[in-house]
Amino acid sequence: MANVTLDTVRKTYPNGYKAVHGADFQIRDGEFIVLVGPSGCGKSTLLRMIAGLEDVTDGEILIDNAVVNDVDPARRDIAMVFQNYALYPHMSVRQNMAYGLKNQRMNKAEIASRIEEAARTLRLEDYLERKPGQLSGGQRQRVAMGRAIVRHPKVFLFDEPLSNLDAKLRTQLRAELKALHKRLGATFVYVTHDQVEAMSLADRIIIMSAGQVEQIGTPMDLYLRP
Ligand code: ADP
Ligand code: ADP
Repeated sequence: MANVTLDTVRKTYPNGYKAVHGADFQIRDGEFIVLVGPSGCGKSTLLRMIAGLEDVTDGEILIDNAVVNDVDPARRDIAMVFQNYALYPHMSVRQNMAYGLKNQRMNKAEIASRIEEAARTLRLEDYLERKPGQLSGGQRQRVAMGRAIVRHPKVFLFDEPLSNLDAKLRTQLRAELKALHKRLGATFVYVTHDQVEAMSLADRIIIMSAGQVEQIGTPMDLYLRP
């Protein structure tokens, strides 16, 4: 578990576009935070800055109370799950999950045990030797989650992971995500434009609009207040 703090974080893209105007908030250890807002409001930019995939123009990002602005993405103790799964098509499910761990030079027995554990958690035991092309959309997204889980990160980042799935699968995977969060006790930061998804998943919701954080609160605070 880890806390994540944004201290007056701004992002201006090289073309001059100001995508984030000054985000200030703290995510607590083990919290399930959902960043919600319309397309283009800067959610993904914020998430990518936490991941280290995008430079911070101004301000500081802290993970576990340490500034990570200049820390390499691979050393931030985070794992990110993308909307389009980002799986390697020529590799099996097992190889996809092992890839990042091999790069860290983890030993084979530990890699195997982490993959078994993730496969059990995500009900992928029977699919480990298949390639992504032989899986359904829901299964592919579970593999993408598996690839994050095996790293045992302190913070999980999700960028609209369910947006490409049909409504029934979305509902099912929402429940699985909630259960996964409970089981791991890790900090989850989840981006979506879907308010229903935000309501059903979040401990606290951060509402963004036009590059700005508008409101932060529990689903009850934000949507049920008269
Ligand atoms: P969201 O995730 O809320 O849909 P994004 O963070 O993807 O929003 O994008 C926020 C704004 O920044 C959008 O207007 C988008 O077009 C713009 N943007 C995103 N990436 C770049 C980039 N590399 N260069 C310039 N503008 C960008
Ligand atoms: P351990 O000392 O085994 O890490 P924990 O209480 O931290 O004990 O974890 C309980 C179980 O959950 C263990 O099997 C552990 O491997 C697994 N686990 C812990 N953190 C994560 C994580 N971020 N992702 C996946 N599995 C995890």
